[in-house]
Amino acid sequence: MLDLLLTNGLVVTEYGAKQLDIGILGGKIVSLVESGRSLAEEARETVDLGGQLVVPGGIDPHVHTNSVLPTAAESGIMCFGADRASEGAIYGGTTTLIDFAHWHPGDNLEDSFARKAKEWDGLTYTDYALHGTFREQEIPFEVLDQVPDAIANGHGSWKVWMTNTTPTRPHQKTDLGNIWGLMEKVAEAGAMLAVHAEDDELVMYAYKRLERAKQTDLQYMPDAHNNISEKISFERVISLAEYTGAPIYLMHVSAKEGVEAIAKARGRGLPVYGEILPHYAYFTAEDYKHPHGAIYHTYPSLKSEADRDSMWEALIAGTVSTLATDGVCTDFDVKTRGRTIFDTTGGFAGIEMRMAVAYTEGVHKRGIDLNRYVDFTSANAARILGLHPQKGVIAIGSDADLAVLDTGVSRVITKDDLHEADYTAWEGYRVEAWPSMTVLRGHIMMRDGELKQGPIGHLLKQHVGKDVRSRPAC
Ligand SMILES: [Zn+2]
Repeated sequence: MLDLLLTNGLVVTEYGAKQLDIGILGGKIVSLVESGRSLAEEARETVDLGGQLVVPGGIDPHVHTNSVLPTAAESGIMCFGADRASEGAIYGGTTTLIDFAHWHPGDNLEDSFARKAKEWDGLTYTDYALHGTFREQEIPFEVLDQVPDAIANGHGSWKVWMTNTTPTRPHQKTDLGNIWGLMEKVAEAGAMLAVHAEDDELVMYAYKRLERAKQTDLQYMPDAHNNISEKISFERVISLAEYTGAPIYLMHVSAKEGVEAIAKARGRGLPVYGEILPHYAYFTAEDYKHPHGAIYHTYPSLKSEADRDSMWEALIAGTVSTLATDGVCTDFDVKTRGRTIFDTTGGFAGIEMRMAVAYTEGVHKRGIDLNRYVDFTSANAARILGLHPQKGVIAIGSDADLAVLDTGVSRVITKDDLHEADYTAWEGYRVEAWPSMTVLRGHIMMRDGELKQGPIGHLLKQHVGKDVRSRPAC
């Protein structure tokens, strides 16, 4: 007998969208049968989805929890924890989040993962994985030597910064030489390296120049975190990745120059992947001029209309692979405490809106097909970051992680509809789809706007496939 049978959904599998019944047992998908054809399989619970859209539960591969906000480091203000972020995710149709396990000097690598996993275990509504993360100038050789074992243990993605981002932040940049060393380990042991790429020298020089000209208001952010910095840093890190054979994942692409650098690399067959953010694909630098423009900001920066439009062209063409949030959930007073290019807080509350915005902007407004929608909201993150085929696909044997979207709604969202923060940059935005049910490993977590299950999320192992590491596979 099945645990759960979901009938009459318009289900998006790798072979397209079809009216199917999904049978679930022991947290896994065990049957996919054309609706009306199943031999009335018995199940403990049966739900008729009435033709609603069913896609793989969303995967947001770029989320920060419980971290001290770098531009508020002196006051020790932190963003919300994994409990709140994952609750918002579940309401929004996302079932897996990928956070960051920071290595601290003196740690064995496993200590960093264990410390971060403790903040998730028993508290969270989604499954999760952790990017092994360095934010020191140097990675000691003895720590680098532990990377292959950590990769073998299922820590399949790593992250570095190429910039300190603002002159006021604590140090976070890793020198290129040390990135070279990490790339060699990642290439050899078979993992993915995520990079926050900006050219530190160009960014810091731009800050000095803007300060001298007294142009430090938020609206000058694109002059500090600028297009040429994205071009040069992307090309530089792609060259090093090619030289070492490491696959790389460029986080929060913000400029058309970034898109072009990725397209060129992929055109030459390199395993280079790009991530864009819903904010960068919707808002522009003009939005910084609003009274609370900070709510639209994360680093690097919003840019011009041409840059924004290049995000959609890239998503449609398959040049960039994923849509993530750079989620940093805080309330409005924290998000808007900074007013300048020096102190504006990065990261957004946007995890809960991601699936609906992607549907509205992608499928509804631009006619992107449903498989491509699944690719950039779930499947590609699973492939690139080593969770496929356990996650990111509706297939027999995969985890029963599902988002059921009601595409008959056309409703305006306000902050009171949401759970992850007390504000949203999408205030007044009309969505053309909204999650009516979220299923994690066969458990109905959310139904009709109500949480139905306690926190059952657990840590996932990541093993990045060889195809993904050797060519632009998705
Ligand atoms: Zn981030």
